Amino acid sequence: MTKWVYGFGGGSAEGNAGDRNLLGGKGANLAEMCSLGLPVPPGFTITTAVCSWYYANDRSYPAELDAQVAAALDRVGEITGRRFGDPERLLLVSVRSGARASMPGMMDTVLNLGLNDRTVAALARDSGDERFAYDSYRRFIQMYSDVVLGVAHEHFEEILEDEKARRGHDLDTDLSAAEWQEIIALYKAKVEEELGAPFPQEPQEQLWGAIGAVFSSWMTPRAVTYRRLHDIPEDWGTAVNVQAMVFGNMGESSATGVAFTRNPSTGEKKLYGEFLVNAQGEDVVAGIRTPQNLTEEARIEAGSDKPSMEKAMPEAFAAFVEIADRLERHYRDMQDMEFTIERGRLWMLQTRSGKRTAKAALKIAVEMVAEGLIGKEEAVLRVDPASLDQLLHPTIDPKASRDVIGVGLPASPGAATGEIVFTSDEAEEMRAQNRKAILVRVETSPEDIHGMHAAEGILTTRGGMTSHAAVVARGMGKPCVSGAGSLRVDYKAGTLTALGRTFRRGEVITIDGATGQVLKGAVPMLQPELSGDFAAIMEWADETRRMKVRTNAETPADARMARSFGAEGIGLCRTEHMFFDDERIVAVREMILSDVEKDRRAALAKLLPMQRGDFRELFEIMAGLPVTIRLLDPPLHEFLPKTEGEIAEVAAAMGVSADRLRQRTEALHEFNPMLGHRGCRLAVSYPEIAEMQARAIFEAAVEAGRSTGSPVVPEIMVPLVGIMKELDFVKARIDAVAQAVMKESGTTIDYMVGTMIELPRAAIRADAIAASAEFFSFGTNDLTQTTFGISRDDASSFLETYRQKGIIERDPFVTLDVEGVGELVRIAADKGRAARPGIKLGICGEHGGDPASIAFCEEVGLDYVSCSPFRVPIARLAAAQAAARRR
Ligand code: PEP
Ligand code: MG
Repeated sequence: MTKWVYGFGGGSAEGNAGDRNLLGGKGANLAEMCSLGLPVPPGFTITTAVCSWYYANDRSYPAELDAQVAAALDRVGEITGRRFGDPERLLLVSVRSGARASMPGMMDTVLNLGLNDRTVAALARDSGDERFAYDSYRRFIQMYSDVVLGVAHEHFEEILEDEKARRGHDLDTDLSAAEWQEIIALYKAKVEEELGAPFPQEPQEQLWGAIGAVFSSWMTPRAVTYRRLHDIPEDWGTAVNVQAMVFGNMGESSATGVAFTRNPSTGEKKLYGEFLVNAQGEDVVAGIRTPQNLTEEARIEAGSDKPSMEKAMPEAFAAFVEIADRLERHYRDMQDMEFTIERGRLWMLQTRSGKRTAKAALKIAVEMVAEGLIGKEEAVLRVDPASLDQLLHPTIDPKASRDVIGVGLPASPGAATGEIVFTSDEAEEMRAQNRKAILVRVETSPEDIHGMHAAEGILTTRGGMTSHAAVVARGMGKPCVSGAGSLRVDYKAGTLTALGRTFRRGEVITIDGATGQVLKGAVPMLQPELSGDFAAIMEWADETRRMKVRTNAETPADARMARSFGAEGIGLCRTEHMFFDDERIVAVREMILSDVEKDRRAALAKLLPMQRGDFRELFEIMAGLPVTIRLLDPPLHEFLPKTEGEIAEVAAAMGVSADRLRQRTEALHEFNPMLGHRGCRLAVSYPEIAEMQARAIFEAAVEAGRSTGSPVVPEIMVPLVGIMKELDFVKARIDAVAQAVMKESGTTIDYMVGTMIELPRAAIRADAIAASAEFFSFGTNDLTQTTFGISRDDASSFLETYRQKGIIERDPFVTLDVEGVGELVRIAADKGRAARPGIKLGICGEHGGDPASIAFCEEVGLDYVSCSPFRVPIARLAAAQAAARRR
């Protein structure tokens, strides 16, 4: 016979902490605490298997459940010397949900279950407090009606407020037993009015009603949404915990409270929490009364004049401190506990691993290693990599008040405040005047790089998480909110309109890249702080991980920052980002506008020394670490002047007519530039561009080799290859340049030529391509775009709808789609290794900084991940965790 019900109490339990899947987190830990001999009110857990059965069988229960619940209730009665439903020896219970993972959105708690018109008198007798008994009964009616019967609790609040006002009472505690009785009559009448049936009097009916409500709450829209957002599978189900009541509201020697064994925001090893005298759990949550501090130290620090638990209830406090300490050592983690004191006696109602900030997580993990509670590898596993973002950027002070004017995507973390500007030039002017700007654009393009650099943060009203603004901002470590669709930008009028409010150029706004919020005015910030704990965890992560972590960087500032965050080389240098500099753009435009190769080469010759200087600096900063430089990628028209003013300026500088310039721009126009004349296609059409870049790279390598005294081995990467011969064609040009530079300089240069894998055809033909490619770098931004056939710049407008409708779980441009895009990565990795054993494999799409995607990279055995500088610590930790979990 299947065991559906697990009892606990009286110093033993049928389950334990290891039964989390079956008993849920709460049930498993209650059982564990019982077995540890801690004071836990006896009870039982109806397993998650019942929940699965319930949904598989048209919301009914297994036949044996009735008898098992009855037997478990009897056992609770034996332990307490009471009987459920018996007015002579009254046993009341609480009913709570409890899934594997803690899950708001589900039915929480029904207290005082078993009370009715008869048993309430027994409670009055047992407690010697009539007022308490009727207060408990009305609380039960209110709670049960709300969460089980679906009668909104506002109805009851309204009755209570009216009655208090009518009688001239301010506080609930002013009401007498007789007055509560009258209110109970009104409550019951309300239930009958709403439901057309009386409030259930029969304790068994109440119990099964509550059990059914817990199971039903598994499928409420709130719970379903929460599961989707947190990747909790639907088939886990919830358990139900039924437990003998203990009362924190039985007078001044009773209390209820919550506590953490360490401070969840700082990590400090000090008991942290609060309690309320003469109260039940929901009073703490409701926030009507101000809770008191647990310790004297905390009370003094808070400047509170209400006594601490340490002072007011010294014996219960001492017992609690001992239990808290024991639980933390037992679970080897910071605990979040709930307790009740009934007439001086302490009862434990819950314990679980406590949620904590990134800062606290680091401190707790490091200190627990020092205390010998956990090992280093476990410490590494205890910190959520994504949470490190909190520590790497300025953030909005959680205490600050927020006036939200719109919300977009949290595209790049950190918060920034500045005056609104609508063009990149304005942003630069502001910077020159030492003023802070937020660059507000419909979307950004490569021409905005200088403005993005100059601005404190970037706000766009269009574009997704891998839009130009988002990718570049993340790369720069600039806060960015992208795709804030409810905001309207009017460039002409110089206004930003948000839900009827208009903000003009120069007005101050704040963007919060962590939440996607756009806020009015300046908001107080907290500055990032790389503490010693952070460094310690990073060091242990480095000892644990297998994959290397590189960075995507092209500016010296980014490269240096990435080094300081522990990057082990550059995995992607997007050379097109180096072409937009004010000084260079003229030469770039000359090159594009030239009709004949000779003129193009002349223009390229002007760019050569600049590129050589850039590369040399990167090689020197990376001091012997690998540097992958990618040949020019975007379509040429992106470099051309667009406004009439720009066209006139360039035409004058080049001595050609504006018309001629316009013609050329039109000739270069593409309907779909993302799938157009970009990547290696440019190098095939204009090999001289690739040749110039290759020369700049090799000459820089020679120079940097001399200046640093250690040879530089550049990795030259060809973008957007789909056909083996594309790579062969470009590689032949690169090799020829290498030969030439070696001859000219009298040095041998070691170098590698490889390719991005960012087209499905390249993945499928990876074995052929590996014949020429010495390394692959997975460009999963384009690979996702081309595999799904979804434009990376337009995706955000409908992918969110897809998520809401459950068609996709996660944005594939953020977290790698393992089943589809990942399969192509796997195929390419396997084929590449088969054709060229030991071929170097890496990833440089945005996924290289996403922990879940990094775990996949570990699984397929990539050699490194590459991500924007600010994600390097996150990637180091995620790579370590992925390696540890596979051991
Ligand atoms: C990619 O496509 O994943 C990539 C890294 O290249 P880019 O984002 O520059 O197109
Ligand atoms: Mg790409």
